[in-house]
Amino acid sequence: MLSVSGLTTSFLRERQWIPVVCDVSFDIASRETVAIVGESGSGKSVTALSIMRLIPKENGRVEGSVRLAGRDLLTLPEASMKDVRGNEIAMIFQEPMTSLNPVLTIGFQIAEALIQHRGLSRAAAEVETICLLDRVRIPAAKSRFHEHPHRFSGGMRQRVMIAMALACKPRLLIADEPTTALDVTIQAQILELLKELQQEEEMSILFITHDMGVVAEIADRTVVMYGGQAVETDATARIFASPSHPYTRSLLAAVP
Ligand code: ADP
Ligand code: MG
Repeated sequence: MLSVSGLTTSFLRERQWIPVVCDVSFDIASRETVAIVGESGSGKSVTALSIMRLIPKENGRVEGSVRLAGRDLLTLPEASMKDVRGNEIAMIFQEPMTSLNPVLTIGFQIAEALIQHRGLSRAAAEVETICLLDRVRIPAAKSRFHEHPHRFSGGMRQRVMIAMALACKPRLLIADEPTTALDVTIQAQILELLKELQQEEEMSILFITHDMGVVAEIADRTVVMYGGQAVETDATARIFASPSHPYTRSLLAAVP
């Protein structure tokens, strides 16, 4: 479904192009969850932003190919890429507040996404918004429609972001450390929710984390990144059973 090949992203530093993601390749099948795991600074977020073509052109350069259902996203005109971001790939981040507008109610923001991306009328979008809030298990969804983001806890805000991501019925959800800022119990609930939704919605997930415990919980296959390179890619069970790269072994040694 998504095929990343030879992805290399460099940034301009003191008039030199320094690669921070080097020749990374992996595939994601339809309905599959692939994890990218690696320490801070290993190039996980840059990989995600490169796929979404959100690397600033002024000081960033992305090479290789990112094929989504046959088209190379890296050479798509910007207008078509906007459609891909609105309709085919959704992204959620560690801190939901960065993508929620603090002065608008969450119901309004999700309804807007439905109107823009799915062409629903305002009335239909409001009904669908409540369905989406229900789907991500926000209690008393109907009464929370008119509340502002600051009234929601961290875990609930992440649920709102997932509802917003589902609004465009994506084939791929990229989740960049969505549970890192949450308490362990809340983290487990969000992982459960994502697993359920993936079955129901028939979407693929690219899940970025630094936590091997989370990888074991959610991923069918895993890409281990170290220093900008994909040092190991395999079925998650195989990586846990017989890691081939020393860095993967050190990651596993740290799992309690
Ligand atoms: P992580 O694995 O923690 O998500 P990142 O992908 O965010 O790591 O970063 C990888 C490297 O790229 C880091 O050294 C970071 O400083 C650098 N980097 C990320 N974004 C930019 C940018 N916009 N300009 C220059 N360097 C960047
Ligand atoms: Mg990151």
